[in-house]
Amino acid sequence: MPASRSNEPALNLSPSPGDEVKTTTCYMCACRCGIKVWLTDGKIRYIQGNPEHPVNRGVLCAKGASGIMQHYSPARLGKPLLRVGERGSGEFREIEWDEALQIATGWLKPIRERNPDELAFFTGRDQSQALTGWWAQQFGTINYAAHGGFCSVNMAAGGLYTLGGSFWEFGEPDWDHARYLMLWGVAEDHDSNPIKLGLGKLKAHGAKIVAVNPVRSGYGAIADEWIGIRPGSDGLFAFALIHELLRMDRIDLDYMVRYANAHWLVIRNPGGTDDGLFARDTEGRPLCWDSAAKSGLHPNPSPLAGEGTGADSVQIPPRAGGEEARLRAGDSRADERPSAAHEGQTGRDQGVGAPALADAIDISPAVVGEYVLPDGRRAVPVFQLIAERYLDPQYAPDAVSERCGIPANTIRRIARELAEAAFDSKLALPVAWTDAWGREHKEMVGRPVAMHAMRGISAHSNGFHTCRALHLLQVLLGAVDAPGSFRYQPPYPKPIPLPNRPGRMRRENGTLDAAPLGYVHGPEDLLVDEAGNPRRIDHAFSWSYPLAAHGMLHTVIRNAHAGDPHKIDTLLMFMANMSWNSTMNTGQTMQWLTDKDEDGEYRIPRIIYSDAYASEMVAYADLVLPDTTYLERFDAISMLDRPISDADRAADAIRHPVLDASTQPVEAGQSARDVRGFQSVLLDLGARLGLPGMADTDGTPTYRDYADYIVNHERAPGVGLLAGWRGSDGSQHGKGAPNPDQLQRYIDNGGFWSEEVPEHARYFKMANRGYLEWAQRLGYVGSTDPIVLQLYSETLQKFRLAAQGHGEHQPPAQHRERVATYFDPLPIWYEPFEHDQTSREAFPLNAVTQRPMFMYHSWGSQNAWQRQITTRNYLYMHPDTGVQYGIADEDWIEVTSHHGSITAQAKFAGNVQPDTVWSWNAIGKRKGAWRLANDAPESRKGFLLNHLISDKLPRTDYANADPVTGQAAWFDLRVSIGKVDHPEATSATSLPQFPAIDFGKADEAPLRYGAGFRDARRTR
Ligand code: SF4
Repeated sequence: MPASRSNEPALNLSPSPGDEVKTTTCYMCACRCGIKVWLTDGKIRYIQGNPEHPVNRGVLCAKGASGIMQHYSPARLGKPLLRVGERGSGEFREIEWDEALQIATGWLKPIRERNPDELAFFTGRDQSQALTGWWAQQFGTINYAAHGGFCSVNMAAGGLYTLGGSFWEFGEPDWDHARYLMLWGVAEDHDSNPIKLGLGKLKAHGAKIVAVNPVRSGYGAIADEWIGIRPGSDGLFAFALIHELLRMDRIDLDYMVRYANAHWLVIRNPGGTDDGLFARDTEGRPLCWDSAAKSGLHPNPSPLAGEGTGADSVQIPPRAGGEEARLRAGDSRADERPSAAHEGQTGRDQGVGAPALADAIDISPAVVGEYVLPDGRRAVPVFQLIAERYLDPQYAPDAVSERCGIPANTIRRIARELAEAAFDSKLALPVAWTDAWGREHKEMVGRPVAMHAMRGISAHSNGFHTCRALHLLQVLLGAVDAPGSFRYQPPYPKPIPLPNRPGRMRRENGTLDAAPLGYVHGPEDLLVDEAGNPRRIDHAFSWSYPLAAHGMLHTVIRNAHAGDPHKIDTLLMFMANMSWNSTMNTGQTMQWLTDKDEDGEYRIPRIIYSDAYASEMVAYADLVLPDTTYLERFDAISMLDRPISDADRAADAIRHPVLDASTQPVEAGQSARDVRGFQSVLLDLGARLGLPGMADTDGTPTYRDYADYIVNHERAPGVGLLAGWRGSDGSQHGKGAPNPDQLQRYIDNGGFWSEEVPEHARYFKMANRGYLEWAQRLGYVGSTDPIVLQLYSETLQKFRLAAQGHGEHQPPAQHRERVATYFDPLPIWYEPFEHDQTSREAFPLNAVTQRPMFMYHSWGSQNAWQRQITTRNYLYMHPDTGVQYGIADEDWIEVTSHHGSITAQAKFAGNVQPDTVWSWNAIGKRKGAWRLANDAPESRKGFLLNHLISDKLPRTDYANADPVTGQAAWFDLRVSIGKVDHPEATSATSLPQFPAIDFGKADEAPLRYGAGFRDARRTR
């Protein structure tokens, strides 16, 4: 019999999680989800996903929830520190902020007056480059970058120089319409909640997901098919798919001509100064060959209406046999039409047609053949070059199968599946739109094949070209910003190349003429001296790494130690754990940081470091500026940096203080922490230094703090860090005068602003008049000119010509062959540099790291809740690999590369292809760092593969990096493995070990967080 109602206990089924709630933006990884932080008695009770937020729509991951432990971490720094012991010892004395800022100003002021380049300013994954880059420009140093060169600049540069946008933060799959998704080298933390939500949608729709990755973890685990590719061979796999699509005539020529440069004419003049450049008219406009024209330049006519006219169709010029074929690409079938690619490539038309402007629309541009221009020069369309190269038998599935580790039949099947998904699904959205030339379309024709890629393809020395290969594959399928495909996120797409070149000269007031990072258009934009040597301390934008758009964080400490190309005075770093997991060659890097010259002075004279936590790098600073946690400060997730937009909306966001740092001691009973947000400190320093834009003529600081800067700084008239609620009354968006209430408007709106892309503007953004007008109004593009996808890159060809001895700016002799080889205007594939024959024989296994889904860099691996998932890493290998090398599960093993050896514990896992071993990154810690106990598993059993990764290439002076962009090639690592039998192995300790850093008492007490809330509730 049920108990009577009166006997039932009073249950509150929906207790409030706290007394007060504040909405802000998560910073437990790079995804920037919206969160609600619930507070009870001034302490964080609970972190919840914000259901209204466009990034995560209420979803919160384990990392986001454990932000509580990040905020209350025992590793938090509490006060500015001045080194008193030897560098690296961790001996400091606490000082007041005034003293700290006076010291920093005293170091920096003479540099600014003498030579601003003696300051090297490098940051980690800090999400505030819109400020830090501007600050460096105002200081006048060219030696600035964030962590992108170490992370994924190959993806960014490969995309931006090809599509005007890129994977990951600048684009996304069409989660609503894709029917086939290929994930290339995507690990678990990049990105997180947005991709999980999207994958859920795809699963619900029945789309096929294919994961291409040597390790099957995370997203690969829920994929319908896992392709366990051999590391570094992704580009070759992509070429085999391209080969098959060309061979089957399953490509979208229509799309390639309409939106890309497939029909642009490339001059063929071997040995000439113009070889490989685009044929252009006298005004510099690119030309194509109009097969229907009689003669002379075809004018750009008034717009034509309707589908199927003008460039809707591609006319193939008469082939050798005199046959003429008219293609309606994309909807054509291999058996219904002659082959444009492999049959037409021998065609040569000297009697029919004429050059025309490439963006004319009522023409029949040729895509194959060779043509004679009126001035007698020969030229071929880009597509002809594509067909010539990728139809070559060296890229046939049978030819690449063994190197990629993928059966040839699988490659052929994937190519067929891609084509079927793209062309046979007949996806079309009933949305009328107008293209950039004024032609009206009744619908948006889809190509529901999407791709998404990340570090697995990027962190190789061939990563730039691999990224370009993937983009070529996408464009062949017509699958860039078409319904169902990869989609741009505003403010992308941008013109190709982006107009902002790297700053190189100083103005009279000492500021740089442009921000230090930018996009090189040709050899004239490099930062080299008259002899062609690098000017930057990281050698970015030199002949060694010309398109190093994100700088080269990974080379700074070696070069600063060596004084190459010049000595620096001060190294200013923020949130970059460069003495441990954020560097290659970790052991030697620590030595460089502490090395002294013959006078007993440190070779890197001064190091200023800012971090919120007692990371390994803190020990190597002379002056430590303690940062706040992400819940204690203002941040702008800005359109000028990496906003939170998705394909359907532009969006940016803020963080704001949920808690006051001055009331948050490291431990209960201790005095309050005396910490400041680094961005505010930077502005304070700028004012003390009198930097233009940061101090008025009488020395008064222009900005009170970072919050004031976010609101009032204008990069250009009406353009500031935040796009929402601009104008004095907050009625303008995108551009408008500063609004003093702007931050409050953001706070009231849950911490973000967004504006939807109009429905008719959501696809084909690169050539959609509606989108381009919308983007121009918001300030994302300067004009409504279409953005033409660059399958063939003239920028790269300019470098190759320079290397062949043409032009005013040529590389020094020692770089010529390298530049000529790797600056191929079409995507190429080559073995990763560390995979040469000698290395492959001596070191038969690939070794890669993966990021755990439950941790983000070294931040997460000190977080008390995330540590409950794991406190150490293993070297994972396939059981067959273990058997092959005489290793049993959980044996201690020695892992050796050409650079060094480590000892680690092996663990068998079936989720890896047998030629590859792998581990989680950044879990291994140095003893004492992050205030973990000296015997914490992270330092006793955890390890870093970084010790095995050389920062230099074997047998050369070049960095272990991509030769085009300078991207750190840390996934090129090759190793050998063997069971250890030396005495250390019996102690079950990973090697190498380093002396413990004394950062104070470790707090390893059992986690009792939350017990106080329960006790308080009981007593209420
Ligand atoms: S995905 Fe990243 S930003 Fe989003 S809740 Fe998780 S940790 Fe925070």
